[in-house]
Amino acid sequence: MGRDNIRLATGFGAYDEHDDHVTVRSTDGSSEDADVLVGADGAYSAVRAQLLPGFPAQEHAGHQVWRAVIPATGFTVSENRLILGHNRCRGGYVRTYDGHVYWLLNQFDSPPLTGTRKQQALERVVHLQEDGQDSLLADLIAATPEEQILQNQIMLVPPLPHWASARVVLAGDAAHAMSPHITAGATLGIEDAALLGRLLAPTADVPAALAGYQATQIPRYAHVAQLSAAVEHAPTPQEFARHYAAFSHWMISRQPQRSEEQPEKHVARA
Ligand SMILES: Cc1cc2nc3c(=O)[nH]c(=O)nc-3n(C[C@H](O)[C@H](O)[C@H](O)COP(=O)(O)OP(=O)(O)OC[C@H]3O[C@@H](n4cnc5c(N)ncnc54)[C@H](O)[C@@H]3O)c2cc1C
Repeated sequence: MGRDNIRLATGFGAYDEHDDHVTVRSTDGSSEDADVLVGADGAYSAVRAQLLPGFPAQEHAGHQVWRAVIPATGFTVSENRLILGHNRCRGGYVRTYDGHVYWLLNQFDSPPLTGTRKQQALERVVHLQEDGQDSLLADLIAATPEEQILQNQIMLVPPLPHWASARVVLAGDAAHAMSPHITAGATLGIEDAALLGRLLAPTADVPAALAGYQATQIPRYAHVAQLSAAVEHAPTPQEFARHYAAFSHWMISRQPQRSEEQPEKHVARA
């Protein structure tokens, strides 16, 4: 690898798979041969669209989210906080390393959105305030300029029958974009990368390595999906805490299987 081999300002276009290599065609018209193509191109993955036609990202029906990062100046954010409210609203805030604060508010089963993004968030933040307590999240939202508020419909990747062919493989959200309420999507993608790195390094047999990867990860994510659903549907803060702790414990204690290290492969990443 190395910095000279990283090409920016172009995108993955399509691939042609051969027995002993894969040819990757970029949107700038160039092409490159590689031992393996890793499609880590997110929920709307173009690699997935070619590998598995008919599995586009889907809306997590009614699940809307609002968020922003703003300077913490003028606010006393003495702790990071996750608040479980009424009307299926959850939210909170987290201090960042550089004196900012990240706030987030989400609602499952949201009614259709009306008004500005700030109005939408402020309408929902009342569901997180018990008896007028804890107005910090509302204050943070009120202080955020409208254009800095990100509002998203949450998208999911449906369960896929496979994640790999002989020389093309999906990783991260391209394979398993999930509802972010378990705050683990990025971590799960890093696990994919670590496992792929370990499996691809030790063997000259790319198809076997990719088969091993999906044999490990597909059942793992089926279980993640179950644990995640339990967190999503937890009816009370106590149940939420119990399911969230169970999920975190399982994630930390059940790492994808490790293997020995071997020579480097030529990998194209989309
Ligand atoms: C509201 C919200 C809150 C979240 N909170 C958390 C959290 O607290 N903790 C956590 O772990 N996760 C969280 N997540 C999930 C996390 O953001 C994702 O799981 C993670 O970003 C996925 O990483 P990725 O690299 O697989 O995909 P992405 O981050 O989507 O990256 C894909 C990249 O591929 C590029 N790309 C797309 N198409 C092409 C193409 N054709 N050619 C070349 N490049 C292409 C894109 O530009 C992008 O840079 C949250 C998600 C949301 C929506």
